[in-house]
Amino acid sequence: MTTTIFGRILRGEIPCDQVYDDDLCLAFRDVQPQAPVHVLVIPRHPLVNLADAGEADQALLGHLLLVAAKVARLEGLDAWRTVINSGAEAGQSVFHLHLHVIGGRPLAWPPG
Ligand code: AMP
Repeated sequence: MTTTIFGRILRGEIPCDQVYDDDLCLAFRDVQPQAPVHVLVIPRHPLVNLADAGEADQALLGHLLLVAAKVARLEGLDAWRTVINSGAEAGQSVFHLHLHVIGGRPLAWPPG
């Protein structure tokens, strides 16, 4: 388990506003939402980011994408954006892999 804040959430050491969970992952609301719906999906297995993932993680990564879509459905979204920041220069601030599920307002492209 990582020592990041998400590792602490997974261990139940700090609370989260949970949206979904299963054997492989947990989904909870972002504390600084960038849209009316902003949920993070994180694996229980402590990958740092996509660069840290390998062949052995293929099924897990697919599962996380399917959970992102499930979360969007649970939140009543018809359109949403899934973002994975990998590396500090790309905006990653928590070094435990997470998928952002963002929606509930029009989303501009390209992102900043
Ligand atoms: P990133 O910048 O892609 O690494 O995303 C990390 C996200 O985690 C940010 O959007 C933060 O607002 C969010 N975040 C940080 N701490 C917490 C927390 N304790 N509970 C929920 N979201 C958090």
